[in-house]
Amino acid sequence: RLADIPEVPRDEVFALTADFKADDHPNKVSLGAGVYRDENSQPWVLPSVKAAREALNKNRDWNHEYLPIHGLDDFLDVARDLILGREDTSQSPVVSIQTISGTGANHLGAAFLAQRLKPRHVFISSPTWGNHHLIWEFAAPDVVQKTYPYYHAPTRSLDFEGMMSTLEAEAVEDDVVILHACAHNPTGIDPTREQWEALAELFKRKKLFAFFDSAYQGFATGDVDADAWAVRHFRHVLFPRDSTAEGPQGLCIAQSFSKNFGLYGERVGALHLVLAPGTPEPGPRTQLLRLVRGEISNPPTFGGRIVQTILSDPRLRAMWDRDLQTMSSRIKRMRSLLRQEIEKHPGVGDWSHLESEIGMFTFTGLSPAHVLRLRKVHHIYLMMSGRASISGLNEKNVTYVADAIFEVIKH
Ligand code: PLP
Repeated sequence: RLADIPEVPRDEVFALTADFKADDHPNKVSLGAGVYRDENSQPWVLPSVKAAREALNKNRDWNHEYLPIHGLDDFLDVARDLILGREDTSQSPVVSIQTISGTGANHLGAAFLAQRLKPRHVFISSPTWGNHHLIWEFAAPDVVQKTYPYYHAPTRSLDFEGMMSTLEAEAVEDDVVILHACAHNPTGIDPTREQWEALAELFKRKKLFAFFDSAYQGFATGDVDADAWAVRHFRHVLFPRDSTAEGPQGLCIAQSFSKNFGLYGERVGALHLVLAPGTPEPGPRTQLLRLVRGEISNPPTFGGRIVQTILSDPRLRAMWDRDLQTMSSRIKRMRSLLRQEIEKHPGVGDWSHLESEIGMFTFTGLSPAHVLRLRKVHHIYLMMSGRASISGLNEKNVTYVADAIFEVIKH
């Protein structure tokens, strides 16, 4: 009966944002949601996005017709080139579908793979972005979720041995493994290139299906190619040109444009399914279209048009590259300032991980008790796991936050 339905706890990050908004303390700081903020803690509309909006508004052909089920072709071309590089795709066909941002791409990929690849397991990093578990629970209820170790708390570094040995021992052919393409959420720690190379070899030998979640391309380092390195490397190693050796059946990428274009609410993204050379693409493509038709019919237009306008115009593209530098360099500067301000206190130990991690988030290592005290006494909001969004920091509040962290550690 509907009357007997148990209440579900609020989603942690959205609840945190609501509580932060309701707090009227003048020094409050939000280190919760993964959204970029400028020097004054305000949302930032990228200048390249503003310019693209103006260009679109001048276009007399603007209309509000439906897109095809797969989305906007011109957007999908530039989106695919952005993540995979501009190279001949004839050897490993790519099917690209526009989605409701990164979440929709994760969901569509999960639903498609559950129905058509039928993996026994999906391996998810521990810890991970909170939504991975929920998405796979809803879209792929028959696929058993397993976790692989990722974070080694004592050294605040990647548990590469644990990751490799778990996949080696427990993953079987066609199992799906979710990998964060860059700027792992929530730890901010990525494998090195040598470690990615070893992973790619493992995936090839064991025929594992890599599912890249790419939510921070360009946002992480300011360099879109560097941030796509792991994805491109996997493609080259798993599906080399003219190879007849058997490997995995494909890989896929869930691509989000929320963070790197600041288009959070426009919900713009894509799913790219890379198939092993020689795989006919009409089957996978039409099955994906069928899923989209039954779920959203066709995607929204506005965000896709903005991304397409920027990526296909050299002037706007150069502006966007500068915008990425602005965001990523501010985050880097805040990382080093926070470290400096914390380490000036005697006895706090080594906080160098703040600078070695990349992207929006840091795993502070603070306990739930610390997090609760930060919130109650200092009006600083972060996730119970100790994850902090660096973009909530600025020159004016970083000392306040560092001093508060010192206070809760010493308390
Ligand atoms: N994947 C990861 C790892 C993320 O951190 C996020 C956003 O925080 C997303 C996917 C998807 O975000 P969106 O649906 O806004 O594109």
